[in-house]
Amino acid sequence: MTSLIIKNATLPNGSVADIAIDGETIAAVGTNLATDGATVIDATGLVALPGFVDLHTHLREPGFEGSETVLTGSRSAAAGGFTAVHAMANTSPVQDTAGVVEQVKALGEAAGFVDVVPVGAVTVGLEGKQLAELGAMANSRAQVRVFSDDGKCVHDPVLMRRALEYVKAFDGVVAQHAQEPRLTEGAQMNEGRVSAELGLTGWPAVAEESIIARDVLLAEHVGSRVHICHLSTAGSVEIVRWAKAKGIAVTAEVTPHHLLLTDELARSYDAVYKVNPPLRTQEDVLALREALIDGTIDIIATDHAPHPTESKDCEWQAAAFGMLGLEIAASVAQEVLVESGRSNWQRLAEVLSLNPAKIGRLSEQGQEIAAGAVANIALIDPAAKREIADTQSKSKNNPYRGLNLPGAVVHTIYRGYPTVASGTVAEKGRN
Ligand SMILES: [Zn+2]
Ligand SMILES: [Zn+2]
Repeated sequence: MTSLIIKNATLPNGSVADIAIDGETIAAVGTNLATDGATVIDATGLVALPGFVDLHTHLREPGFEGSETVLTGSRSAAAGGFTAVHAMANTSPVQDTAGVVEQVKALGEAAGFVDVVPVGAVTVGLEGKQLAELGAMANSRAQVRVFSDDGKCVHDPVLMRRALEYVKAFDGVVAQHAQEPRLTEGAQMNEGRVSAELGLTGWPAVAEESIIARDVLLAEHVGSRVHICHLSTAGSVEIVRWAKAKGIAVTAEVTPHHLLLTDELARSYDAVYKVNPPLRTQEDVLALREALIDGTIDIIATDHAPHPTESKDCEWQAAAFGMLGLEIAASVAQEVLVESGRSNWQRLAEVLSLNPAKIGRLSEQGQEIAAGAVANIALIDPAAKREIADTQSKSKNNPYRGLNLPGAVVHTIYRGYPTVASGTVAEKGRN
């Protein structure tokens, strides 16, 4: 029995089809499917993509509910076309035990807007001293597969080696925030011409690249897989390209902001542009775009990092690092892959859905739109031109305000349930 039918959607390969949904599942994809009794979504002119999967989101709960909650972050994700987000471990308490990751998963289920997939901390308390209970988190109800101390780098090479060895037992992956701590003490922005002119302490590219080089070699040495968070420099791209050519099991992500914005924005002294790793140069932006197109970079991940106004509306040195991203990712991807004429919607589906689901080992996400798949779908109006204004997030640190970017998420279907309909986020989740 069809409960929901999407009429005349354009699939990533360019064909036009109807999509019939029965409960949580796609029942059929074809032309002129019968609509009888079903709720109809007219998708004429809209592109249907598999629901987006974010490998890197900060939902802030438990502990920092003034910035975001699992519910507000989930609503923001749905508004951006996401049907799953990985929730980073730097909460309070830290997500370093089975109990805390199960709590975050339960909060996600109660919200009902996306699958909330907890990331487990690599080290106890993110302190970089002692491995957390990786196996207990993997075997918990949260079934953790991605482990990260994100916000901090696992900089001790012995700990990193042990973590890489440990996660092999359950096909997990360590997601590294590559930042050599000694080289970035007091760092405020990208080290280069702009930092010199502004007199702000620089953050050298080598602080990122040296850790990536070390970790791909460690991954090769122990025969494990490693994922590199938020690549931000042309040199990082070169190292990942080299490692992949050598057959090392490395995957890499880039954020929307590193694909679009540069360190020139720091000249405004507006801390909305302060982020870790920092915005880099136009040369880096172009290298990251090229790497996303040619497959060196596997995915776009948002690093959605909400902060309250008081942490951002202050002088640059005192401000927190981070920016919002969930509601902008699809537009930036469309700009870089489709509007540029360099790639296509199929690649966009790969980098925002198929590949992140694969890296996170999610079996019910990141599936091509076909009969039998779970009904996770984002419907995009590619012709929409929108100014990025307010968001669903509890925080306002949105660096895209005032920019004109292509495309808008019109409908999001999460496990057969419309979390976004005609551009409006549902009052309640699917539960
Ligand atoms: Zn990070
Ligand atoms: Zn992060």
